[in-house]
Amino acid sequence: MLGYYLHIPFCDKKCTYCDFYSIESKGLVERFVDSLLREIQQRAASNEQSVSSIFFGGGTPSLLTPEQLSTILDSVRSTVVLAADCEITMECNPGTVTPENLIGYRAAGVNRLSFGVQSFVEEELRFLTRIHSADEADDAMRLARAAGFTNVNMDLMFALPPQTMETLAYNIDRMLALQPNHISAYSLVYEPGTPLHAQKVKGAVQPHPEELDADMYTMVIDRLTSAGYEQYEVSNFARPGHRCRHNLTYWHGEDYLAVGPSAHGLVGGTRYWNHRSLTAWTQKVDAGELPHANTETLGAAERLTELAFLTLRADGMPIQQFAEEFGIDLYTALQPDLGYWMDEGMIVEQNGKLRLTARGYQVCDPITLKVEELLGR
Ligand code: SF4
Repeated sequence: MLGYYLHIPFCDKKCTYCDFYSIESKGLVERFVDSLLREIQQRAASNEQSVSSIFFGGGTPSLLTPEQLSTILDSVRSTVVLAADCEITMECNPGTVTPENLIGYRAAGVNRLSFGVQSFVEEELRFLTRIHSADEADDAMRLARAAGFTNVNMDLMFALPPQTMETLAYNIDRMLALQPNHISAYSLVYEPGTPLHAQKVKGAVQPHPEELDADMYTMVIDRLTSAGYEQYEVSNFARPGHRCRHNLTYWHGEDYLAVGPSAHGLVGGTRYWNHRSLTAWTQKVDAGELPHANTETLGAAERLTELAFLTLRADGMPIQQFAEEFGIDLYTALQPDLGYWMDEGMIVEQNGKLRLTARGYQVCDPITLKVEELLGR
């Protein structure tokens, strides 16, 4: 499988917690699209596998017009072979969608939407400085279904300072009532360099104690799995048949192309980072050069650690792949801890993979650290 990521670096308004690269200069979108088309052409034929997933992330890709999106997709199609059932996802801000745009995105080939809902409580949305209201999130889902989207993700955030166990339960119930096919649930992170982090440092914002954060995570897992969602990664839950193929490409350590400012790609064991500045990225692309800020070729030890980290936190470490690629028998290499984790019901073997259970996901960080240590011996 080969993934294809496109970073659209514009937002209506920058949220205080966000450390993704995006700017508020929407007047530059048209010019950006021209340069993006150039980078897409530069990356033509750099990989011969067919593309099984395309992901428009950002930023706010739903600031693109359907015509711009269609032109970009046509350009991608002209440079790589798309699998017949290619998953094409677009991140959408519920505050920016219109019926016409959703119909246009669907006609252009987008077949999966991801809405950054986060919360249905106005006070929590204000805390996050989101531009949308709870009602707009409801509307966005209704409009998406009316436009023909049968595969929709919603993002949910927990451990927000104004949030209680009661408001989190309310948020989950409201989200479940909309019947998204997939839910990504993240604990709020205070990323250094963001305004929210600065507020925390000044004492203007008090994060929840760790125990409450953990209780909230437990509630998320319990409620979503009880509602028929399968947890297939620390933060991701899917209805049967609706795992995000694009995310799985990352978590299985497979190749993905990436275009746009700040985008990260991985091709043939070499990782690259594009410039995290629209100006620097545009200058390079327009000069006919790949806009890399840096590249790194992974050695065997790094690839081993990375694959263990990614697969353990997702749908499990593939036993045969570790044996064939690294000559490692996981059952031997991870003793004695593996025996304990299995006895305690934190890890099980399923479909040839050693994977975390719901209980295991809740202690994922210490298990991951230990696995890395044991494999690095
Ligand atoms: S809308 Fe999304 S990408 Fe834009 S600033 Fe907010 S969280 Fe970040």
